[in-house]
Amino acid sequence: MRAVPLLMALFFMVPHFAAAPDINQQRAKELFLRLARIDSGKENEALICSLVERLLRDLGAEWVLNDEVSKKIGGTGGNIFAFFKGTAPAPPLLLSAHLDTVLSTENIQIVERDEIIATDGTTILGADDKAGVALILEVLQTIKEKSLPCPPLEVLFTIREEKGLLGAKVFDLSQIKARYGLVVDGGGTPGELIIASPTHRGFEVTFYGKSAHAGAEPERGINAIAMAAFAIAQVPWGRLDEETTANVGIISGGAAMNIVPDRCTVIGEVRSHQEEKVQQVLNRLRDACTASVAQFGGKMDWKEQVLFHGYRLTEEEPIVATAVAAVQELGLKPRLTKMGGGTDANVFAKGGIRCLVLPTGGRDHHSTKEHLILPEFYLNGRILLTIVMHWARGEKS
Ligand SMILES: [Zn+2]
Repeated sequence: MRAVPLLMALFFMVPHFAAAPDINQQRAKELFLRLARIDSGKENEALICSLVERLLRDLGAEWVLNDEVSKKIGGTGGNIFAFFKGTAPAPPLLLSAHLDTVLSTENIQIVERDEIIATDGTTILGADDKAGVALILEVLQTIKEKSLPCPPLEVLFTIREEKGLLGAKVFDLSQIKARYGLVVDGGGTPGELIIASPTHRGFEVTFYGKSAHAGAEPERGINAIAMAAFAIAQVPWGRLDEETTANVGIISGGAAMNIVPDRCTVIGEVRSHQEEKVQQVLNRLRDACTASVAQFGGKMDWKEQVLFHGYRLTEEEPIVATAVAAVQELGLKPRLTKMGGGTDANVFAKGGIRCLVLPTGGRDHHSTKEHLILPEFYLNGRILLTIVMHWARGEKS
């Protein structure tokens, strides 16, 4: 008899989510497992492409395109791009995730324990980014099943993201009408909204010296490895400041213990959330290399490459304001964060499409310890659904 008022009191005390419907957790998990069992980590994305293409059609997409860009960038399959016209008079919204995985998952053995999905440790799981793909498809399914208000949605599943955002880079971005979107491909915990990613540049410098017998006539040689080492030692590495990192990753050269090496190649990278800092750090390194070459009397060949451009969304931008409101509605604390890596959102930003990156619930990406924390996966799905619904209502705060 006393339980009834107690329950009522609890109902008013505990934040309740009447306004925001939930995804179907079991269905989301089953879809993730289905995707995880398809290997898409070694030039073989065609199979997963055709599956998601079929699922998008079944979900009632107006159209689904496969651009077959593997013909240009290698591998198999293509970016899958679909359009749902929606029911609400809101601006279009882009939802995106990638279909490939960083390594093969051939013969994957999936282990589920205590609400965590992992593998037996011999392959990666591929939650990066099949968990993102599954969440987007489950949100579309929930919207359809419950006839929820929905903005026009453009859904883009890319290939070869792990090979350097290749699928997104060759996708014809002029096809996308949305100016804002959500890329479901992040680490972190539910409520985290990733608003920034650094600019990332690589460098490769080859030092040329002169070979000579190391014991008989070292005076006639110019040691290319010593030249490289001297240059590397002149500049700082690692975390240079709060938003800038630099790494020397590979050094190779030399032919034998007793030959003065005539050649040494050094490969590394610089990242920063301030684009101009990347160039400053590279210039400093290049100057150090030039000075070393002058001192040793050698030569060098310097190359730089932009891997991706950084971006930063502001709190005022509608996709951020909408996501913050949606996360708050679910009783969670929104946390705006920066990531150290890149996603397809970097490519979209360059094309004028501003995307927030949402976490999937995956952890330890790119390793055989990779796992998916199911309660977080479900909650991230609910957050995604709530953001889409807020966008449909045109609510920004
Ligand atoms: Zn990813």
